[in-house]
Amino acid sequence: MTATTSATSSAPNAATSCSTRLLTDPWVIDAEPPSYGPGASMGDRIPLAAPRQGEIPEEYRTASEEELHDRIRAAKEALGSRVVILGHFYQRDEVVAHADYVGDSFQLATAAKSHPEAEAIVFCGVHFMAETADILSRPEQAVILPNLAAGCSMADMADIDQVEDCWEQLGELAEDVIPVTYMNSSAAIKGFVGRHGGIVCTSSNAATVLEWAFARGQRVLFLPDQHLGRNTARAMGIGLDEMVMWNPNRPLGGNTPEALREAKVLLWFGFCSVHKRFTVDQIDKARAEHPGVRVIVHPECPMPVVDAADESGSTDIIRRAIEEASEPTTFAIGTEITLVQRLAAQNPQHTVFCLDPVVCPCSTMYRIHPGYLAWVLESLQRGEIVNRISVDPSVAEPARLALERMLAARP
Ligand code: SF4
Repeated sequence: MTATTSATSSAPNAATSCSTRLLTDPWVIDAEPPSYGPGASMGDRIPLAAPRQGEIPEEYRTASEEELHDRIRAAKEALGSRVVILGHFYQRDEVVAHADYVGDSFQLATAAKSHPEAEAIVFCGVHFMAETADILSRPEQAVILPNLAAGCSMADMADIDQVEDCWEQLGELAEDVIPVTYMNSSAAIKGFVGRHGGIVCTSSNAATVLEWAFARGQRVLFLPDQHLGRNTARAMGIGLDEMVMWNPNRPLGGNTPEALREAKVLLWFGFCSVHKRFTVDQIDKARAEHPGVRVIVHPECPMPVVDAADESGSTDIIRRAIEEASEPTTFAIGTEITLVQRLAAQNPQHTVFCLDPVVCPCSTMYRIHPGYLAWVLESLQRGEIVNRISVDPSVAEPARLALERMLAARP
């Protein structure tokens, strides 16, 4: 098999994608009743209060790809150091092409912090990432999310009212619980964690952060991704019988008081619909069809998938594993398709393919289109800030504390 070529700059093939609506322009989806839109999260229920994107001017909706590319480049050049553009690994190639930095959410938050001179940080990613950049940047800097409807269904699965309610239901047990939240959560959840002596983690430092938490409490409440929490805790030697799931729709999360007392880890009932698509059958098939294949999956995948893989790690770890392999290697990857296709195109010395044969990108990352990027940049050129993401100081302060605890946590 030869390396898969990048298909991210063109529309997905309707015959092999999870939704023919991936061919629909995002502004058409924006105008419809709220939904995550086509892609991996299309079956997830969107909260009523999820931000919506208003209509952008017609000139951006009708411009050709080439025209948008030229306009973005010209606006960026004119703005110079006044603007920094950040692009998440899962963004379309035609957006990533204009990014000053490309990385995972943590790398991009760090990049945002390293540009105190920029007046504006344009975050081509999803809502919680822009919030984190706002928390870490200077108050005068404007963080802009090109499409306000680019949320994250996993982050939305931990609603602040439900988490407050969980804490209340834990009662005196909460005294020994350290809340830990994955970076992929709202600012409100990060703020909650900061207020209750807790900490933020990423997919690359989750074990270090759990050690930090267990040095301070008997139990951990892990938000919002059950899979990252379970995979990390188990790799640290915590048994499955020491973990319980907290379902926010059931009294005591669906647990008995005894089970909660005995648990070391309380896993919030959240998941990423992109990484939930990967299965052990896909891995078995890859091994049967490609003897010697190296299977690497993201730790947001379910535990049986992580167990069946050769390795698991963050998007950046996956990227480095491919780039640093000295011999031509076949890689089967379990993470978002846009990144996998780009890695395949960038590393023709290897064969790189996605474990899932169906093209099903992250619905919300996909909502950022060059049309929105051109609109926010040209608005900045005119002195107008659109789509600013601002976190209230009462939330930002404890959230920053939880992020700083993470930065200070050492293995
Ligand atoms: S890939 Fe999953 S966790 Fe990441 S933004 Fe998309 S839905 Fe959220």
